[in-house]
Parts: sequence; structure tokens; C-alpha cells
Amino acid sequence: MEKEVSTDNRTDLKSLNTDELKQFCDDLELADYRADQVYQWLYQKGASSFDEMTNLSKDLRAKLKEIAEVPRITIHSQQESKDGTIKFLFQLDGPEGYKVEAVMIPDFYPDGAANRLTVCVSSQVGCMFGCSFCATGKMGYFRNLSHGEIVDQVQIINEIVEEKFGKKITNIVYMGMGEPLHNFKAVVESARIICNPLGLDLSPKRITVSTVGLTKQIKQLADLETGVNLAISLHAADDEKRDEIMPINSSLNLTQLEEAVKYYHQKTEKPLTYEYLLFDEFNDSAADAKKLADIAQWVPSKINIIMYNNVAGVALKRAREERLDRFMQILTSRGITATVRRSRGDDIDAGCGQLAIREGQEKGKSMAKA
Ligand code: SF4
Repeated sequence: MEKEVSTDNRTDLKSLNTDELKQFCDDLELADYRADQVYQWLYQKGASSFDEMTNLSKDLRAKLKEIAEVPRITIHSQQESKDGTIKFLFQLDGPEGYKVEAVMIPDFYPDGAANRLTVCVSSQVGCMFGCSFCATGKMGYFRNLSHGEIVDQVQIINEIVEEKFGKKITNIVYMGMGEPLHNFKAVVESARIICNPLGLDLSPKRITVSTVGLTKQIKQLADLETGVNLAISLHAADDEKRDEIMPINSSLNLTQLEEAVKYYHQKTEKPLTYEYLLFDEFNDSAADAKKLADIAQWVPSKINIIMYNNVAGVALKRAREERLDRFMQILTSRGITATVRRSRGDDIDAGCGQLAIREGQEKGKSMAKA
């Protein structure tokens, strides 16, 4: 089907949140079941034109074409790693030609059948937080994604995954390009759509939103009772080291993070995850492990120790195995639940932002530096 191109001020249906879309359908005096059908076409079946919406009457489709549009992002390119990880570079609508990445990370049972199929999505084009180890951070900030653009990443990858493995995506993590809680409204709305039975019908327990530690938004997320999981990108266990690699820490330090995390847990009763990239001779000492164990005791939590995908131009490097072993021993001796996450897709630029940078999207506006 031919994709509709906006030539006027038609309403982008995917820019409307669920309530606004309902109002739009009410204004057209559509029955509730019709509104549900439109919603399903947008977010479950991934329609990019009204012509595809074959269970709507011809008259209604013609009317919708006149007053609305349904943009959809497209796959610009993809790379598959020998471990099964697939990295997608998506082309966004719009004259700027922006691209964002998403990664599908499969886990397999011993017999080779697919087990968990996790998708890591982007929430912004670039990022303004400038973490020193991050390829996306080097790119600077361009713009927020809409909730529709976030859901599109999941929906498009889900189509591919169902075809390839005969099952749906099982988990979603908001850990791609951008700081999800800095695009709060769109991220929350996208998670709601993903969980909606008329959307992708995934349990919120299968969704994890990651943040560098935006304390106000952590509390807002707790108040909304979305049911999604929260992960904190910690990466250093004291303010001095965290200041060095994550500029956000100079305005929102670990004391403020502790307060927000305790509020989040008190409200949601959910355990937290801390993500900790282990860098050689930077944050992998015995003293670091002990400080991290202390942080893990703020509220019930687990720690993912992540072996870093080295990024060109970044001085920090992946920790050595013997230092990892000692680090893990200290955590487990303190009774901390900690898991080592091996980098996936090492052969395909699977670290966040690497592919977009290779494709030439590298000059953004960095508010962090400003
Ligand atoms: S790690 Fe996350 S918050 Fe930090 S620069 Fe990269 S995308 Fe932004």
C-alpha cells in the first residue's frame, strides 16, 4: 500500500495519546468498537496507511485520509551478529533524516529454541547527558521521539521476531539511545500502548525503564503506578567517580538518588535493578565493590554487572576477567544478588549509538556541555 504523505495540517494519529485518540474518534462519532479497530491498526498491526485498515468502511477510510495521517518509521538497515543479536537502524519521518537504533537480543534454550526475546529501544535522537563512556552521549541531543515512534520500534521488530522465531517479543528495555525519563510523557504513553491488549499486550512486568538517575521523574513514575520496572544506570559507587563519567551526578548526586530510590520502592514495593558497567582499573576495585554493596542495600535490588563494549575514542575499557571475579566474590559474600551480563553483538557495533554514529549522525546539540 502506498504510504500517505503529509501535505497539509492533517492530524498525525500517532502523536495523540490514548485519551486524545478517543476524543478524535468521538468527534467523528465513531462507535467504540471502531475506535478500538483504529487503535489496533495503529499499534498492533502497524498500519502505515488507511488503505490497510480493511475492516473500516470505505467511506470512513476516505474521511480519515482527508483529515489524518499515520506515519510509521522504517528500517534503514540492520546487522545480525553471530550470537543472534540483531541491531536495527530506524529511519524516522521528517526532513532531518534522523535515525535511531534498537537491538533485539535473543536467549536460547539448550535445544536451540528461542527463550527470551528482549528488545532494547531508543527514546531520543541522541542524548544530552554526555556520559563519557557512551557513543550516544558523544553525538549530543537532537530531539525526543514521540510515543508512536517508540512503539513502532517494538512493533516492527515484533513482526520480524514472530516470523523468525514463531513467538512474540518477551521483554522490552528502554536502554537504547537517549535518557528515557527525560522524555517522560512519551515513554510512559508508549509503555501503556505496549501493555494495552489492543496494542502489543505485554505485561508491564516485562518492561524495564532505565535512567541515569533523574530523581523527580523517578518519583513521578512511582506515583503513576505503571507497573513497569526501573533500572538505575549507576556505573560508579561514589560521587567522585560518578562525577567523572556521568555529568548528571554533579547536579543529582548519590544522596539525592538514594532518597528518590527509597521513595520509588516505598510507593511501588518493586525491587530495583542497578546497571554497573565494569571498567578496567576505574570502578572495579575491592573498595568499589564494597561501596556498591552498600548502595544495593538502600532498597531490595539486584545488580547487573555489565562487561563494557569498548567504544572508539573512549579511554575507559572493559574490565579484565580476574578483576571481575574478585568484584563478584565481594558482592556475593555480602549477600547481594548480582549477575554478569556479557556484551552481545560485539561483532556488529551493538553498543548504544555506535551504529548511528557510523551512519554519520554525529553532530548534535549537547545541552550537557552548554
Ligand atoms: S548512557 Fe544514557 S544518559 Fe548517558 S549519554 Fe548515553 S544515552 Fe545518554
